[in-house]
Amino acid sequence: MLGNNPIRQQEMSDGKILWVQEIFHSLQGEGPFAGKPAVFIRLSGCNLRCFWCDTDFESSNWHPSCDEVVENSRDLAGDTTKLAVITGGEPFRQNIAPLVERLLEEGLEVQIETNGTLWVELPENKRLHIVVSPKTAKINDQLRRRATAFKYVVSADNCDPADGLPLMSTQSEGEKSNIAKPEPDVPIYVMPLDEQDEKKNRKNIAAASEIAQKYGHSLTLQLHKIIGVR
Ligand code: SF4
Repeated sequence: MLGNNPIRQQEMSDGKILWVQEIFHSLQGEGPFAGKPAVFIRLSGCNLRCFWCDTDFESSNWHPSCDEVVENSRDLAGDTTKLAVITGGEPFRQNIAPLVERLLEEGLEVQIETNGTLWVELPENKRLHIVVSPKTAKINDQLRRRATAFKYVVSADNCDPADGLPLMSTQSEGEKSNIAKPEPDVPIYVMPLDEQDEKKNRKNIAAASEIAQKYGHSLTLQLHKIIGVR
């Protein structure tokens, strides 16, 4: 989208019908489950507009039922894939509670990838993992309590000397911001920003590696891009 997406507010329904960009099988490329085979459920629309966002979550006219999403996920997972990743766009923009419950009932691990600004009440479950990748100064209070990992996109020259985490706005290029900090004792992953430019990307990988070593965070790369899968 590269910063061109319309900003869409949270739209709460009963969650029986969802707006979905795509469902596909691949390897999880980043974060706590990096390297694991997974079914990805990409939900449409986002309430933010990050200037570097390179994901298409707006071009779909598909509005499947929750049942259909679960059936597709089950078919793609087969007997060997144990992880479903709900991503976007921003997943919490829609009522994903019924979908999460159904996927858990299927016996899957469920990972939600969120920008941290919205929340939908979800069941407590050891197989539910919420990875918060803060993009603004505030994290939703209820979500903050349920975060199981934090993931920050870092780049060269964008690093708080106190903790190595980013300082610059994700919404306006070149502006400083107070990107929300993680909860204590929750794992932190740092991932280099992909600027679609080899030279800049090399600098960002070096910066992320240095930050991880200096501040004790975990480095995560976008494995799916490196190995050339979706
Ligand atoms: S929050 Fe995520 S999906 Fe939304 S615009 Fe930013 S990077 Fe893209």
